[in-house]
Amino acid sequence: MEVNYKNKKYYNTAKYPIRQPKIMTFLLYLVSKIALMFGPKYKIEKINMEGLKPPYILLSNHMYFIDFELSAVATFPHRVNNVATIDGYYRRPWLMELLGCICKRKFTTDLHLIKSIKRVLQKGDVLCMYPEARYSPCGTTAILPDSLGKLIKSCKVPVVVTIHHGNYLYTPFWNYRKPRKNVPLYTTVTKILSAEDVASKSVEEINEAIKAAMEYDEYKWQKEHNIIIDQPFRAEGLHKILYQCPACGTEHEMASEGTKLFCKSCGKVWEMTELGELKAEKGVTEFSHIPDWYEWERAQVRTQIERGEYCFEDEVEVYSLPRCMKFEKLGAGKLVHDPRRGFILTGEYNGKKYEIERHPSGMYGVHIEYDYCYLRPEDCIDISTDKDSFYCYPVKQNVVTKLSLATEELFKLHSEKIKNEKSTRNG
Ligand SMILES: [Zn+2]
Repeated sequence: MEVNYKNKKYYNTAKYPIRQPKIMTFLLYLVSKIALMFGPKYKIEKINMEGLKPPYILLSNHMYFIDFELSAVATFPHRVNNVATIDGYYRRPWLMELLGCICKRKFTTDLHLIKSIKRVLQKGDVLCMYPEARYSPCGTTAILPDSLGKLIKSCKVPVVVTIHHGNYLYTPFWNYRKPRKNVPLYTTVTKILSAEDVASKSVEEINEAIKAAMEYDEYKWQKEHNIIIDQPFRAEGLHKILYQCPACGTEHEMASEGTKLFCKSCGKVWEMTELGELKAEKGVTEFSHIPDWYEWERAQVRTQIERGEYCFEDEVEVYSLPRCMKFEKLGAGKLVHDPRRGFILTGEYNGKKYEIERHPSGMYGVHIEYDYCYLRPEDCIDISTDKDSFYCYPVKQNVVTKLSLATEELFKLHSEKIKNEKSTRNG
């Protein structure tokens, strides 16, 4: 059941991008170069790139907006068409179209996307994708879709991987408004597969090569390179990703202030060191490495799902983005995350009820925000369909990270189930 909008038009994502005009390639480079002059020190290193000319597919990890600027500088003078999400088009669809961007709604299966990608490559240009599809919550690799290997195999072009280091430490997703000083940025641009490699390798081998090349851990990077982050606010916002207390197990009662992270339920306090490690003020330090804590939370969610104990339901305030110029305020709604049915969003708008459903098998991840710059600066979760995107603000506090982990784990469980069924049938 769709939303009863007065204006029935949706932004059409099923269209081909234009070839980026050379003047736009140059302007993008210029604007990025100037913007980077005001940011931290940066270095771009190209590896195995000699003699490589487009077309090729460029895959990049994603931490903050600065990634786009670094990529624009790294790829100049070649034309790059970016796969971009609908909220990037907000109020400026003309600019995105002029840059040759390909519009996509997050975590949906968009059949036209493949056609657009092939068109870009046929014209001899670079196709850039951020397969994690959102900023990294914890500075580590997010889940990558297996469909990537299939796409690359059918495109028959070289694959280049861009890994940005430092961008997450500079502006972590959970507190991007307060950049940390003295964090150097380091970007590597590496050709990982030639066209011949793509032709000779299987889809699984291509996926493995991508996964290996896209592995990163920013907290490990920080320690290895002795990057001191001594800002007195460095832990503020960390409770957004570390929402469960490992001492007492309570969820959604964590908080942070200054350099400290603490549990409001049992009172345990951890100090975030200048090297990004955690130390308990009293007693054992359960996890000194932040990604270990995050992965422990993931395992907790997985166990809850497997035991049939996982379920989420809350009142939400909903905004949608059917076109690009304006968010529609849909008002109060109800969001349910059910392990079998997936996300179910219900509400009423303009005198008619609507219901949006997304099955777990169709979402390898979900788009969450902790401080959404286009709407209210609070936690929200975006449930998208092929045509529309629904930004939901839950009433319950600090719940979106768990929803994101649950989405990823449910997708994995569904994929494993399908694989098992297939092998039983075949075996
Ligand atoms: Zn606790």
